[in-house]
Amino acid sequence: MSGITSPASEACVTDGDDPPLSTRVMDAEGVVLVECTGRVTVFNAQAAAHFGIPVPLHIEHARLPGCEWVRDDGTPLPPRDAPLGRALAGEPVDASVWHVLRPDGTRAALRCAAVPVRSGDGQVAAALLRTHAVEPLPASMLDAPRLLAEAGALLGTSVDAEAQLEPLLKLLVPALGEGALLILRTPGTRGEEVVRVGAALHADAGRHALLRDLLTRYPPDPPRPGGLPQVFVPGGVWRLPILSEEHVAAIARDAEHARLLRELGPHGCLSVPLGVRGGMSGTLMVLRSNVLRAFGPEEERLLTELAHRTALYLENARLYREAREAVRQRDEFLGIASHELKTPLTPLSLKVQLLQKQVVSLSREGKDVPTERVAEALDVVQRQVRRLSGLVDNLLDVSRITAGRLRLELEELDLASVAAEILYRFSAAAAQAGTELGLEAPVPVVGRWDRLRLEQVVTNLVSNALKYGAGRPVVVGVEAQGPLARLTVKDHGIGIAPGDLSRIFERFERAVSDRHYGGLGLGLYITRQIVEAFGGTVRAVSAPGAGATFILELPRGDIPEEWLVAHAAPGPTEGA
Ligand code: ADP
Repeated sequence: MSGITSPASEACVTDGDDPPLSTRVMDAEGVVLVECTGRVTVFNAQAAAHFGIPVPLHIEHARLPGCEWVRDDGTPLPPRDAPLGRALAGEPVDASVWHVLRPDGTRAALRCAAVPVRSGDGQVAAALLRTHAVEPLPASMLDAPRLLAEAGALLGTSVDAEAQLEPLLKLLVPALGEGALLILRTPGTRGEEVVRVGAALHADAGRHALLRDLLTRYPPDPPRPGGLPQVFVPGGVWRLPILSEEHVAAIARDAEHARLLRELGPHGCLSVPLGVRGGMSGTLMVLRSNVLRAFGPEEERLLTELAHRTALYLENARLYREAREAVRQRDEFLGIASHELKTPLTPLSLKVQLLQKQVVSLSREGKDVPTERVAEALDVVQRQVRRLSGLVDNLLDVSRITAGRLRLELEELDLASVAAEILYRFSAAAAQAGTELGLEAPVPVVGRWDRLRLEQVVTNLVSNALKYGAGRPVVVGVEAQGPLARLTVKDHGIGIAPGDLSRIFERFERAVSDRHYGGLGLGLYITRQIVEAFGGTVRAVSAPGAGATFILELPRGDIPEEWLVAHAAPGPTEGA
């Protein structure tokens, strides 16, 4: 270093601004002194650790071998614009944080200060670079109580599902890491489990867009390779010190996926489960691009506590949503039920009033009311009363089912005879509507069932076939299949859209407008509940405009072996 003087004002490395709140500058200092010729005069062990390279003897164009300076967004920075290059060009660089991509692919955040070192004639002879590793503060120094309090306040302000997830991540980023994401497990529309990203955030705008792009195009999918299966080990904390090239190769689903993962940069990752009441509703994950330091136990504890609070918030939001939906359904149902109960009352009270008037005026004249007029009026009254009591029975059944009070009295029955009996009961109404009713039940099919409930099930299916069957023929079929009895009700009416096929068996669910067809949306719900109490199944096969077939399959229960064999003799059921 002879012949080189370093004016105190320039050689002294000043620490400029205070480091950001959530980072800490490590004590050990890296020192590098490079002459303008490229000869490396000083390169201490700490500098070698910071840049991840062995001590070089010579460098070209201010480029440290194998290292690349990068901007915050990961794009490369020409060496002449980095601290060493600028100092070699005569420009002092105040202490500030710079990023370096090391030869092993890891990225380091270094607090660098650089000064030109001038010879006696004032010419720049060398540059002195000083480096300190920068690391996030451990959780214990992050004011964990304040963070938890803020998270609590945030989650307490809303019961709206997921509205607070992104603000929550903003509390963690950059305090705990540069990126954070919440992966949620929620039930899908058909009861299946859906894994999706609830929120994702990166402190760096470019990487934020990249992270979202990556998660949209390659959504988490636990069963798939690269779908982060480890993250969903119940109760498990999962940590990855660094997403290395081997990890990328192992989890990338294709070349584009690998490119996006690489572009996101090397990250360490800590993931904790969102568990509530023994179940698991997802996972909270923090990404850290400063890989100099692993996640510590205090950070893990803080993140676990936050995940627990988040899980409770999500659970409360779900319960609130369900309660709101139940209230909405109840209000809608009350509207429909009042309308349905009122409808039979109108003709009923009109008939009664008319009859009353006639009785009064005829008795004034000293005459009797003609029997046929009374009979006709009573007929209407009886029909409407039957309709009303049917509606009330349905409502009572629903409350019985909800309270788990559906009791069955099993006896040996022939399903074919039950179907014939029900068709007989409907024959007058069908004839009036011009609908042809048919029964295909060549042999008795015996099993042990509750007679009234079985009749109720068949009645519901046949009355729907008449109601939605557009006046076209309706055919009921009964057959035995070993230990199973099968009943089908086939119509050729308006049909059902595929998306409604399973929904219509739920409480209050309807797939028609109540302007065109009255109804409470309870018949199929009650049917399914009864059938399931028998240990059977009921489903519909249909398409809009193509009619519908309802298929009922019931276990025949504990019956004599010989009854399981279909009887060859024609049953007493034909010609209903
Ligand atoms: P409701 O008939 O009182 O509406 P249900 O529970 O019996 O209640 O039926 C639920 C819905 O299923 C009906 O509203 C209708 O949309 C549909 N549905 C039932 N049976 C048939 C059928 N045979 N053809 C077409 N749609 C049907």
